[in-house]
This record gives sequence, C-alpha cells and structure tokens, in this order.
Amino acid sequence: MKEVKIEKCPFCGGTELLETRLASYRGVYITPVENGGLRRTLLFATICRDCGSVVRIYCKEVEKLYPKKERRD
Ligand SMILES: [Zn+2]
Repeated sequence: MKEVKIEKCPFCGGTELLETRLASYRGVYITPVENGGLRRTLLFATICRDCGSVVRIYCKEVEKLYPKKERRD
C-alpha cells in the first residue's frame, strides 16, 4: 500500500493531525459491497486537533478486502 502523508488540515490549516480508530464496542469494519462475508478490516481516521475535522478515513489492510491475486490489470 502507498503511504499517505498529510501535512495539514484542508479545512483549517491545522498541523496537529492525530490517528484514531473508529469505535463501536470493538471497532468499525469496512467490507466489500459484494461478497463481503468474512472479508473485513478495521477503519481508522486521521483527525485535526484544531477543528475536529476527520481528514481521512482509511483501512490498513486493503489486501484483506481485495486480495492482490484477484486484481484486474
Ligand atoms: Zn482542522
């Protein structure tokens, strides 16, 4: 996976960005629209400390949702 580096909040310009995890009991998962089943992975969010905006929502294991071997070229 490519690494994303966010320098500042696009909403207020704040530079203190924090990594959080979406939570509802044990966490919030993302799953493919079709054939979801057991394919799921936790969602994380980068938030701005200054304005509270959620700058990015992402997962760390895309491979779990869409294995590379199934990738279309
Ligand atoms: Zn902000």
